[in-house]
Amino acid sequence: MKDPKEIFNCYCKSHGMRCTPERYIIIDEIFRIRGHFNIDELYLRIRKDYPHKKLSKGSIYRTIPHLVKAGLLRECFIDQGHSCYESALGAHHHEHLKCVRCGKILEFSSPRINTIEKNICKKLKFHMIEHSHVLLGYCVDCQADLPKKGVS
Ligand SMILES: [Zn+2]
Ligand SMILES: [Zn+2]
Repeated sequence: MKDPKEIFNCYCKSHGMRCTPERYIIIDEIFRIRGHFNIDELYLRIRKDYPHKKLSKGSIYRTIPHLVKAGLLRECFIDQGHSCYESALGAHHHEHLKCVRCGKILEFSSPRINTIEKNICKKLKFHMIEHSHVLLGYCVDCQADLPKKGVS
């Protein structure tokens, strides 16, 4: 796997941007998470791990789109207005299941879904650039705590 900071360096150079230390911190934290996160979670983690740095949520918001464009991050899905992200490096495409109770995220991939989508796009003459699916529900642990349905 290539060094994410090197990749971002190249991106910055070709876009005439400055690679600030703050942006390196954001990249470091993202690749430490090794999973799915939203901006609020990322912000809290950075505040905890770098308490002496005054990194604002705004600068995270401004950096994320560049990391997506640089191919480092992928927006997995949007849940109640919050985008969920994960590393795009070395990962194959997959879909997500999210537990609405404990927040656990599971992954799956299905060649059949991909084939169906390709056929739909062909039929509708649609040029797809990205696809994502999120299934909301209860994970197996949380199902145990669901109130039982009344017997009718
Ligand atoms: Zn759960
Ligand atoms: Zn994922």
